[in-house]
Amino acid sequence: MIDPLFISELFYSIQGESTWAGLPCAFIRLSGCNLRCRYCDASYTWEEPGTEMAIRDILDWVVKYPGVLTEITGGEPLLQDNIHLLTELLIDNGHKVLIETNGTISLENVHPQATVIMDIKCPESGMHDKVNLHNLDLLARRKEQGSRDELKFVLSSEQDFHWALETFREHRLDQLVPVLFSPITGLIDPRHLAELILAYQLPVRIQLQLHTLLWPNRNRGV
Ligand code: SF4
Repeated sequence: MIDPLFISELFYSIQGESTWAGLPCAFIRLSGCNLRCRYCDASYTWEEPGTEMAIRDILDWVVKYPGVLTEITGGEPLLQDNIHLLTELLIDNGHKVLIETNGTISLENVHPQATVIMDIKCPESGMHDKVNLHNLDLLARRKEQGSRDELKFVLSSEQDFHWALETFREHRLDQLVPVLFSPITGLIDPRHLAELILAYQLPVRIQLQLHTLLWPNRNRGV
């Protein structure tokens, strides 16, 4: 097959995260992940092999949703090199493309017109030492080129909050891109996280996962 990608699922839903939350979105979820976060709610993306699809067939699916956001996610979508060709073709066809990444793979080859939503993994994920901090320099370079990227901390506890606070200050993230703090349902009370953000006067955006509020009993296709 020419230019294949391994797909976990294609679905149309409401964008639940990032500053784009609330908008209809066509999701391309690629299979495979190089991390094993303790709280992973998408383990099927790396436990199951995924379906091989040609880029042309993926584009044929996306064109059913003209004028809405397109997000490429995972798993870890940057593990598959053909993501760059898919991104280029989507952008050339007029789609607004978001790429959600766990932050461990270099952003060097990501299309400047795509919007990267990059995780910085916190300690309770068990994966915080895997984050590629050189990507922060690349985010700065992409910003100079006009990219509109975002950073996201997913928080499990107050300890994660304090680690994220230190990381935010150390790397002057307020100068870089919009920063999201996202509480994990059932692990940290969102109201407590909001109060911590207010107490420390942190210029970050608290983000509740809109899709899990709308469809609390579904873990795929939303
Ligand atoms: S990066 Fe995402 S898909 Fe991969 S293990 Fe962590 S939460 Fe799961």
